[in-house]
Amino acid sequence: MELRLYDTLTKEKRAFTPIDPSNVRMYVCGPTVYDFAHIGNARPVIVFDVLFRLLRHRYGADHVTYVRNITDVDDKINDRAARDFPGLPLNEAIRKVTEKTADQFQADVAALGCLPPTHQPRATEFVLPRADGRADMVTLIRQLIARGHAYEAGGEVLFDVQSMPDYGALSGRRLDEQKAGARVAVDAHKRNPADFVLWKLSSENEPGWDSPWGRGRPGWHIECSAMSAAYLGGERGDEVFDIHGGGLDLIFPHHENEIAQSRCAHGTHAMANYWMHNGFLQVEGEKMSKSLGNFVTINDLLRDWPGEVVRLNMLKTHYRSPIDWTLKGLEESRRVLDDWYKDVADIEPSDDIDPEFLDALLDDLNTHKAITRLHQISPTLRLSEGRLDDWSGDAARRHKKSAALLLGLLPQTAAERTERGRSLTGIDTARIDQSINDRAAARARKDFKESDRIRDELAAMGVVLKDGKDADGKPKTTWEIAR
Ligand SMILES: [Zn+2]
Repeated sequence: MELRLYDTLTKEKRAFTPIDPSNVRMYVCGPTVYDFAHIGNARPVIVFDVLFRLLRHRYGADHVTYVRNITDVDDKINDRAARDFPGLPLNEAIRKVTEKTADQFQADVAALGCLPPTHQPRATEFVLPRADGRADMVTLIRQLIARGHAYEAGGEVLFDVQSMPDYGALSGRRLDEQKAGARVAVDAHKRNPADFVLWKLSSENEPGWDSPWGRGRPGWHIECSAMSAAYLGGERGDEVFDIHGGGLDLIFPHHENEIAQSRCAHGTHAMANYWMHNGFLQVEGEKMSKSLGNFVTINDLLRDWPGEVVRLNMLKTHYRSPIDWTLKGLEESRRVLDDWYKDVADIEPSDDIDPEFLDALLDDLNTHKAITRLHQISPTLRLSEGRLDDWSGDAARRHKKSAALLLGLLPQTAAERTERGRSLTGIDTARIDQSINDRAAARARKDFKESDRIRDELAAMGVVLKDGKDADGKPKTTWEIAR
């Protein structure tokens, strides 16, 4: 089956054809590092990690280039630096804020099972022309001015939206509509109220770089145009790449403006061939906000839940649909994972991915359907439905291989699993069955000291025994994972 992706720009799901199958190129907008990332920020990171893994599976691990930037220059960062480190010179304070936050972000998303992207450029390293000749913001802005798409006014360099006839195509916002509500007085220096900042002058107390337009700093949008070109610009001057991703909230103005800058600077028909956007996330039925007190950071969640649970819970919903993030959903996801771990503990994954599971992912990343398929082939479910005969090691091995594509590498050793949380402790089912038999034998010979010892030993592993009777009324002991 071919890979099909939904493209926000053309509003259709169509077959994915890479420009160069030996180097499939994807860019996803990364975090602005001034505060802990929240669970809404985690969604694109997880969704595009699944796509990255799928592309690697399809085209080969060495044939996919994934770039996710780090925005480490932003007025929000300046404010945070001044607040948190009032005694320090601003630049030093900014470095403290961005380094700490970027490190935290990396640790958070690694715990969510996300592979590191191929490149994670930091904006501040791409402001000025570089020794290695990779694209940079100042050169890009000069190109835009030279081609008549940008101008200097009022201490800023602005993009001239009217210089681009199809500006607004991604968001479907037409220029004449945007003009209506604009605050004309504030924007008096602009040719059109929709013109946006490429460069602005910095005061002495603000971070700045010396440029042809004076000491200043870049606008947000130009960062992504420069960093995507720096790592995804093809051979022979082909600047168009394959996939650009991000959250729905970035379509306007951020992605609209990235397209305008990149296309006009390079003179190309497109910036990327497929524009992919994940849907919104709300918490317990409400929009997440600090004032409502339902603001959930990835870091908070990881204190209570293993990363795989958070990840599975995110992927239960198709990436383009809105998600309602709930405690109930997390609990359900943990139960599912507990079952899966029980199924595949200490089993070597097979080389094959389940074909139906793969087809679901190839259909515009239908993770919901893929997870349903994992349920269908889950040995636990088959056993509970009395299909004991259907059990085969192959099913479990394919299940493990498939689940790994979705969830990141499942922990392999018992020690790793124990580290990831008690409820996901690796379970050696054969050993438990043996212990249960030993305990039954001890009870039969009335050696209650030994039977209690075995029960306590299992409890220490997080396994709780339940004594009951089977259909024929004979004593039967079952077990479950302690919660
Ligand atoms: Zn961006």
